[in-house]
Amino acid sequence: MTERVQVLVVGAGLGGLSASLFLAREGVDVLTVERHAGTSVHSRAAGQNWRTMELFHWAGIDREVLEVSPRASQGLRITVATSLAGRVLHQLMEDGSEFDVSASTTLPAGMAGQDVVEPILLAHAEKAGARVRFRTELVDLTQDDDGVAATLRHRDSGEETVVRADYVVAADGGRSGIRQRLGIGTTGMDALSHCLGVVFDADLGDRVRPGVTDLFYLQHPDFTAGLVNTDVPNRYVFAPDYFPDRGESPADFDHDRLVSMIRAATDLPELAPEIVWTGSWEIAARLADSFRSGRVFLIGDAAKVTPPTGGQGGNTAVGDGADIAWKLAAVLRGEAGPALLDTYEAERKPIARMIIDTSLHNMKQRMHPDLDVSGLTEPEDMLNAVLGFRYRSTAVLAEEPDDGARVEDIHAPSGRPGFRAPGLESTVDLLGHSWVLLCTGGEWDRAAADVAAETGIRLECHVLDDIASRYGLTAGGASLVRPDGIVAWRAKEPVEDPAGELWRVLTAVLSR
Ligand SMILES: Cc1cc2nc3c(=O)[nH]c(=O)nc-3n(C[C@H](O)[C@H](O)[C@H](O)COP(=O)(O)OP(=O)(O)OC[C@H]3O[C@@H](n4cnc5c(N)ncnc54)[C@H](O)[C@@H]3O)c2cc1C
Repeated sequence: MTERVQVLVVGAGLGGLSASLFLAREGVDVLTVERHAGTSVHSRAAGQNWRTMELFHWAGIDREVLEVSPRASQGLRITVATSLAGRVLHQLMEDGSEFDVSASTTLPAGMAGQDVVEPILLAHAEKAGARVRFRTELVDLTQDDDGVAATLRHRDSGEETVVRADYVVAADGGRSGIRQRLGIGTTGMDALSHCLGVVFDADLGDRVRPGVTDLFYLQHPDFTAGLVNTDVPNRYVFAPDYFPDRGESPADFDHDRLVSMIRAATDLPELAPEIVWTGSWEIAARLADSFRSGRVFLIGDAAKVTPPTGGQGGNTAVGDGADIAWKLAAVLRGEAGPALLDTYEAERKPIARMIIDTSLHNMKQRMHPDLDVSGLTEPEDMLNAVLGFRYRSTAVLAEEPDDGARVEDIHAPSGRPGFRAPGLESTVDLLGHSWVLLCTGGEWDRAAADVAAETGIRLECHVLDDIASRYGLTAGGASLVRPDGIVAWRAKEPVEDPAGELWRVLTAVLSR
């Protein structure tokens, strides 16, 4: 008999596991398949930005993530230099205290590696009811008007089964087989650069600041490389570029050559680093032409691959997962019309473009001064991109006039529709679970209860005294916040018919 699920998630990386967790918490029947035997063994994405931690807070896992982020509270230094003791070309960040996010969120950022975050996401996704099958890969997928038929193969037994799903979330990574199968192209730069990842143990003394995350971009006369400390004392990642167009390959970098490069990078000519792991990867900047085909949605690296100079690939994979999850849940519950699902691409693709372009500008500054950035959009301040991003779609009733900006200054959040609802001490635990109407008084409470009862939409109302200025309301105004913490609409002042207004707004933004 064909197995049926509401949502099939393909890939159990940061994107897929986040989608699984958020879907399961919404009560959606979700099956996740992953071709590998377990979660990521490499730390790769180290760092959870404040938006990710807000989403994790609402999913109930932020504390656990912080517990495995020993360096989270101790700061971040980012230096562009010729070597660790060489000439400093740019001091991009001194210790992270430059990050004043207090007007926008009260939650801390995390600094945990992907290898320790994924098991937390997995455990909580399963606890919330998601079924996750490892060593199981999707090998075929067809769709019709009613659903998707996915053929899954167990990698040990070779046994194939067909699962029928209402929707599929393709979280199958940068080389997404599903994206290719659907014939969705990509634009961008495939092999921007190639680099090695070399994990080594050594005592670098005071070359590296203990406690903080100390990230170096090295423009050494003989090579370009990244170097960063890890959570393990005296363990570092060294990531030098190599150049296939000059005939180079990872095989050319034997132990002795790597040791001499590490000595040159650290200015410690006698150093005897112990190399514990090496790998290689390609840095790309790739955006899928479409984030959706019918009932299949691309998220994370399947939708876009961004250079690591910005640290947002994994964070935006989590953001994609959260976005598609609440929308699928709303449609599957019958709260929203199917057109709500069109807003996934409308909202997430511009974010992906902004993150890719900003990371490419960073790459030019930090590693590759000759990188051609003409034709890209202007870089945004990464803090504004992370916390002050703006959505434009039918799931937001924007206010006119639109200033055209992609982001707002996180030191002065405006509370305008399309932006994150400012995360205050008083609001952070109220948001993220349902639609929330935040108001300063008036008739809103009763109106929200009536509309919730009539429509079945999960809508709560909270009267708060302290939100007026941050949310841009006068006395008696109200702000309607979506389940993902984005302001959908606001009435700056009291309105005559609050229930009627709420009804009108929810009908519009949920495509009912
Ligand atoms: C060296 C490095 C450093 C990075 N640093 C950062 C950073 O500091 N911050 C940050 O935010 N991001 C960083 N990233 C990016 C981050 O790792 C990725 O953006 C993130 O892993 C994307 O998550 P994902 O779930 O979309 O894809 P992935 O993690 O690639 O997961 C995709 C999964 O799908 C599975 N899969 C594929 N096809 C199938 C199939 N047919 N059936 C079943 N399963 C399948 C794969 O096995 C894989 O597990 C870094 C990446 C690298 C390589």
